[in-house]
Amino acid sequence: MTILPVDFKGRTVAGPVLSVVLPMRNESRGLDRLFARLVPVLQGIGLPFEIVAIDDGSTDDTLARLKALREQVPGLKVVSLSRNFGKEIGVTAGLARTSGRAVILMDSDLQHPPEGIPQLLKPWQEEGVAIVYARRVGLDRGGFTRKILTKWFYRLFDMMSEVKIDRETGDFMLIDRKVVDAFLAMPERNRFNRGLLAWAGFKTRTVPVDMEARESGASQFGILKLMRLAMNAITSFGTLPLRIWTYIGGVVSLMALAYGAYIFVRTLIFGADVPGYPSLIVGLMLSAGVQLIGLGIIGEYIGHVFSEVKRRPLYLVQETAGFEDSPADDAP
Ligand code: UDP
Ligand code: MG
Repeated sequence: MTILPVDFKGRTVAGPVLSVVLPMRNESRGLDRLFARLVPVLQGIGLPFEIVAIDDGSTDDTLARLKALREQVPGLKVVSLSRNFGKEIGVTAGLARTSGRAVILMDSDLQHPPEGIPQLLKPWQEEGVAIVYARRVGLDRGGFTRKILTKWFYRLFDMMSEVKIDRETGDFMLIDRKVVDAFLAMPERNRFNRGLLAWAGFKTRTVPVDMEARESGASQFGILKLMRLAMNAITSFGTLPLRIWTYIGGVVSLMALAYGAYIFVRTLIFGADVPGYPSLIVGLMLSAGVQLIGLGIIGEYIGHVFSEVKRRPLYLVQETAGFEDSPADDAP
């Protein structure tokens, strides 16, 4: 059975105006609750809509549940990736399948309340704002370590990158079709979506929306995964981490020269003496450490270059449902 997008009176219409993109990895348990809240909100808005759910290599029965839910949820379309590609790429895969004039991006764990969608829609409808971000209000985001690390990430990102992102916003947002097209035209494999959107520019607005706690399951972003993402984000959006080593190297060399001159003069005056072993070791370790960090950073960039030049597809789709009327199934 083909479920076409329906408007608020249940009539099928030519195409959706509003698309909702839902990246999912092992979210099976929360699906009923998610759609029970999302669908009435979308129907209440009264615009023809579609819901594009991306199964990002789930190991539970998310895909089977999604396919079954297509019988009940109007406008639900499913894209199943061949394995877990990560949320950023999952979102990209979903965006590539949307056809609405505006697209809502939101998490599938109900941390982003569907009831906030009309608030995101307003600036777009009334003033033509191209990107409307939801500002996080009231969400206690993870434990102490996560908060500190997140704060430091934004500081570093601000310092190092060529684009600015608002640290109070998350991945709950509305983006206009022209932004979706611009976003999809960016070919890079290492993707930090909010950085890419910031780079794209366009008229943006931030509206406050109350965020909620995860409904079921646990966050899939542990500290290590977050640090990996942070490193990726920072090195994808600027070359300062790369260039800074010239200056650090310069400063360390100057310090070494000054210390050398001091030793030289001291030896002339007081003669040679053997002590100084600790300072030698400290100096040695410091410079070795500094060099290794520098090398590591260069490695990060070479890693980016490597993964870009391979030009592999961003993701692979193993199965779709609900796209019968639009058979374009290949990844960019
Ligand atoms: N997610 C995904 N692929 C992944 C990890 C997560 O599509 O590899 C989805 C997940 O199902 C959820 C959203 O991304 O809808 C946010 O994930 P999560 O709630 O674990 O992150 P947090 O809210 O802690 O940042
Ligand atoms: Mg979450």
